[in-house]
Amino acid sequence: MKHQCGIIRDLLPLYHDGVCSAESRGAVDEHLTECNDCSEYYKKLLDERENFVVPEIEEHKADSFRAVQRRIKRSVRAAIIFAAAVLVICLILGMAMIMMSEKSKRIIEYDGSNITVSMKSEGLVATVRGAWYSGSHVKSVFMEDNGRQKLLKIFCLEEPDGWNVFAADKNETHNFTVAYADMDADRVDAVYYYSGALNEGKLKGMEDMPPDELAELLGEMTLLWER
Ligand SMILES: [Zn+2]
Repeated sequence: MKHQCGIIRDLLPLYHDGVCSAESRGAVDEHLTECNDCSEYYKKLLDERENFVVPEIEEHKADSFRAVQRRIKRSVRAAIIFAAAVLVICLILGMAMIMMSEKSKRIIEYDGSNITVSMKSEGLVATVRGAWYSGSHVKSVFMEDNGRQKLLKIFCLEEPDGWNVFAADKNETHNFTVAYADMDADRVDAVYYYSGALNEGKLKGMEDMPPDELAELLGEMTLLWER
C-alpha cells in the first residue's frame, strides 16, 4: 500500500479539483480511508488550498483598496489644485477691489478752475470739469460769525473709477448739487471745497469742532462760493 502513496499524492490536486477520472477518484477514495498519512496529507493540502485562496482575495482587496486610494489621492490633488486656483482668483479680485476702492477714495484736486459753484434754480450746483466723479462727501457746518450763525457747505468729490477713467473727456463737465433749493440752499452762506492733505478722517467731527480749529481748517480749503 505504501508504495502507492506517491501516486495518490500526485493525484490529490486533480482529485481535489474534481478533474480526475472516476477510476482515479475511486482509488484515491479507497486509499484515503486506508492510509492515515495520506489522509493527513490531504487535510494539509485542503488547509493550504484554503489558505491559498484567502491571500488571493486579500490581494484583490488590497488591489481595489490601492485603486480607491489612488482615486482618493487624485480627487484630493484635484481639490487642492481647485482650492488653490480659487484662492489665487480671490486674492487677485480682492487686490483689484482694494486698488479700485483705494483709487476711488482719492479726492479730485482743485486745480484753480476745474470746479466752480453757482446758484441755480435747483440749488447750489458745483460744475466739475473732467471724468465723472465716483463719489461725494458734503458736510453742513454752522459757524458763529459776529453773533450770527453762518451755514457752510463743505464738500469734496472722489476721483473717477473703473471705466470712467478711460471714458473721460477732460473737457466734459458734470454737475453735483451741493445744496438743494427745496432744502437749505437759500440758507447757505458759503461753499468750500476740500482736497489734498485734507482727508476724510480730518473732517470727521467737524460739526462739533471748536471755532478756532474750524477756522484754521477752513483756511486750508478753497472758498468756491459766498453769498
Ligand atoms: Zn498513503
